[in-house]
Amino acid sequence: MAVAIEFGMGRAFGICGAGLARGERTGSRSLLPVPCPCFSLSVPAGIINFCANNYLGLSSHPEVIRAAVEALEKFGAGLSSVRFICGTQSIHKDLEEKIARFHQREDAILYASCFDANAGIFEALLTPEDAVLSDELNHASIIDGIRLCKANKYRYKHMDMQDLEAKLKEAQKHRLRLVATDGAFSMDGDIAPLREICQLAQKYDALVFIDECHATGFLGPNGRGTDELLGVMDKVTIINSTLGKALGGAAGGYTTGPKPLIDLLRQRSRPYLFSNSLPPAVVGCASKALDLLMESNAIAQSMAAKTQRFRSKMTAAGFTISGKDHPICPVMLGDARLASVMAEDMLNRGIYVIGFSYPVVPKGKARIRVQISAVHSDEDIDRCVEAFTEVGRKHGALS
Ligand code: PLP
Repeated sequence: MAVAIEFGMGRAFGICGAGLARGERTGSRSLLPVPCPCFSLSVPAGIINFCANNYLGLSSHPEVIRAAVEALEKFGAGLSSVRFICGTQSIHKDLEEKIARFHQREDAILYASCFDANAGIFEALLTPEDAVLSDELNHASIIDGIRLCKANKYRYKHMDMQDLEAKLKEAQKHRLRLVATDGAFSMDGDIAPLREICQLAQKYDALVFIDECHATGFLGPNGRGTDELLGVMDKVTIINSTLGKALGGAAGGYTTGPKPLIDLLRQRSRPYLFSNSLPPAVVGCASKALDLLMESNAIAQSMAAKTQRFRSKMTAAGFTISGKDHPICPVMLGDARLASVMAEDMLNRGIYVIGFSYPVVPKGKARIRVQISAVHSDEDIDRCVEAFTEVGRKHGALS
């Protein structure tokens, strides 16, 4: 035990000593309830936030906030219960129905988070006779969810369709096959080749599961997600996603898909059965966010235009931006210390971004991940590009 603690402390010291520890900045009180992109931190005022998952700006949308307050006043602070005891209100059922309608699926089930939705699905659905095939760069919560299940596990190389096909052939001996992938990968801003995945799934009789945390609300012509963007809404069987990013940013997650699957999850999924139901204010936020998105895709289009502006200006300035067309715009720098000092210097210029390095991303692939929001103005985007250009020149990332 003592050795383990010492070893852990030694590792922690090594990380801090190398200047690579991930800190947690504290926002001023005013930023907490309204995380709009322009907020003041405990550092100088006028900082622009370029690292939130608030893709559509709905976490600071007045109608979303009003809906939360109304739900709080009408339904109370919380349920003090899991769903199946006394934790289900009409608003939970309404939200599940709305989520299913938004994704054009038969039914949906809410969780306290998408982490829980991912933790709860594989174990409930798959038996030791089945197989799950997972992209090697899937989100940690998918990896953990798969760890919890007893199915046979195959890991295919990131977005490598030859490798997936080889693994699908190998997995033919199992009763059922499930291919699991992020729709959009959060570290690289790249999008899974869902058309090809669905073709392979059809050929080898597999189901397809996607995690749409970085797609729901804004990818595709109507913001339905990666499956809509790539024209395979009728081929993807299961979607897990979050209410904690584009859909109001409060908290919560869900699974949507065929009704028998959702019925099974209500009976068997452990994070659903054994964790408190979502508080009314959170449900109110998400419900209003979905209403706004089903009324119009103007907000998503505005975010797409700003993403395009940022990506093209940064590329013209000489930076390499990973991914394509996604509001996650990783500015690739390679060196961990460079990413860390540049991020710090960006903050000195009023731009809040974070450097990512190993083990969050592979060694030698450090980056600053910029995330664009519909509420950034064109001037905000230009200010960010200018700051990157200055800081990049200063630290030798640009010649
Ligand atoms: N899946 C992906 C791809 C994510 O990026 C995240 C959050 O970072 C999650 C799942 C977990 O979502 P939640 O915050 O709702 O637990």
